[in-house]
Amino acid sequence: MSVVVTGAASGIGAAVAAALPGAIALDVAPADGVRPFDVTDASAWAALAGELRADPPRGLVHCAGTTLRARLGEVTAEAFAGVHAVNVLGPLLGIQALAPLMPPGASIVVVGSLAALQGHYPVAYTTSKWAVRGLVRAASLELGPRGIRVNAVHPGFIDTPMTASAPAAFRAAAIAETPLGRAGTAAEVAAVVRFLLTDAAAFVTGAEIPVDGGASGHGGAKSVSDALRKA
Ligand code: NAD
Repeated sequence: MSVVVTGAASGIGAAVAAALPGAIALDVAPADGVRPFDVTDASAWAALAGELRADPPRGLVHCAGTTLRARLGEVTAEAFAGVHAVNVLGPLLGIQALAPLMPPGASIVVVGSLAALQGHYPVAYTTSKWAVRGLVRAASLELGPRGIRVNAVHPGFIDTPMTASAPAAFRAAAIAETPLGRAGTAAEVAAVVRFLLTDAAAFVTGAEIPVDGGASGHGGAKSVSDALRKA
């Protein structure tokens, strides 16, 4: 039995696939060992389910994601829908297609974001990641009776091609909000995803685990602590 990983050509998805020998790696972008696949395409999910019916996966990890740093006044309806299509509809379609095949003990992980725990300024991205939280909770409720677990992992600022595209000020401000004082690595996120796929997490479902160096833990009060330390 294998694990299906989306967004596996880059960043966190590539690290997750590397941590799971035999993973079925999917991505819309080309990469060695990665199958071309668009997570927003319901017919692609149906075809994959047909192929895997004889040997169903025991895990599904949604890492495919897209960002859009437009603010409230800038985002268009089309761009908003496009972000939601990849970040929310994609995981929904994947769960709908593959969960019916998955055996008891199987595990689904959706990669959310620190933005799902805060009022992060890029409105389309933030709303899509908050929606991921609802999807994970609803799916854990639906699939629990079949022994299938569904959880979210919320990365903070992680060094990947996605964050490499952010302005330097974004990186500096994000790290300033992170008690561990550095960016995380894709491998550090993959390690937590891997844990959730194993039986060590057999009683964990409907849960959300930040992998963010403490950025969500202080609830915005780090600047107060830092200012007083300096004063
Ligand atoms: P990345 O850009 O390196 O990788 C994302 C991958 O998703 C790319 O390979 C891309 O081709 C793929 N993808 C995009 N649209 C797709 C589609 N329609 N079908 C299939 N694949 C598609 O980014 P990353 O940093 O590795 O991000 C992975 C996940 O982690 C995303 O959901 C992202 O929102 C989330 N995340 C990242 C960070 C961070 O700091 N890097 C922080 C919080 C959350």
